[in-house]
Amino acid sequence: AAQSISNIDISEVTFDDVGGLTEAKDRLHELPEVPIDRADAFETFELPTNSGILLYGPPGNGKTLLAKAVANETGRTFVSVAGPELTNPFGAGTEQLLRNVFEKARRNAPAVVFFDEFDSIGTKRGMFDGAKDDIVNTLLTELDGLHGNDDVVVIAATNRYQSLDSALLRAGRFEHLVEVARPDTESLQEVFSIHTQTLPLAADVTPEWFTDQVDELSGADTATICTRAAIRAIRKTECTSPPEDITVTQHDFREALDAFATSQAARRKTSDDEMFW
Ligand code: ATP
Repeated sequence: AAQSISNIDISEVTFDDVGGLTEAKDRLHELPEVPIDRADAFETFELPTNSGILLYGPPGNGKTLLAKAVANETGRTFVSVAGPELTNPFGAGTEQLLRNVFEKARRNAPAVVFFDEFDSIGTKRGMFDGAKDDIVNTLLTELDGLHGNDDVVVIAATNRYQSLDSALLRAGRFEHLVEVARPDTESLQEVFSIHTQTLPLAADVTPEWFTDQVDELSGADTATICTRAAIRAIRKTECTSPPEDITVTQHDFREALDAFATSQAARRKTSDDEMFW
């Protein structure tokens, strides 16, 4: 069997599972749909009907989640590739692997192909090594080959789109740039509500209370803290007591937040040390 670096999934994520990001959601709702609904106009005007979508923004705020929601809500399989796996220095034949990804998507169409950490494969040509240039060239060929084929939608995610090769951002390729920003207070409250939906919260553990306790948090950090608070609440109750007797309190959240702050500080210290050495 051909070597594969992509995973294939049926996503169950909906746009309701994504907190905040109203603008991004609105755009993603319409992007894959408009060219399909108005195929006649697109054809008449000779417009590219299948342009890639580039989601950009700091880590952990819902890029992958959004791509999965697009797949699910448009009835497509989700074919995902972690960028760095493609550029593994020991992995030979990267271009072939990349072609296999698109081939797999076509076989499982309608599909979304999702490239995470896209900057690791789409960097400006001529900056690093020839091998990377070949990857970008293969990618361009594959993207151009999708024109007129709405069966495969390509979505990529990056923290730094400025480092991408500009040829990738041209019309008909990754034409649509969609920002996935850090959540503001209101968005954070939505993310909190999503991640506590199934938890037995004490009455005073409200989204407003939660955002008063924190400075800046990513969506992923919020999810982690909610999980940890729930685990604390479970640990505190007797093994014999049923789940109905468990309540997640402000105290559990405070402890989870403290533990999170400590691990953040440790992580920052480690990366400072790494920089120093
Ligand atoms: P990376 O750049 O690190 O790949 P990302 O932007 O793709 O990050 P996701 O993988 O989508 O981030 O988010 C990680 C997890 O954090 C999600 O599975 C989810 O649990 C939570 N999360 C992040 N953002 C949101 C959000 N806007 N709404 C709800 N949950 C979120």
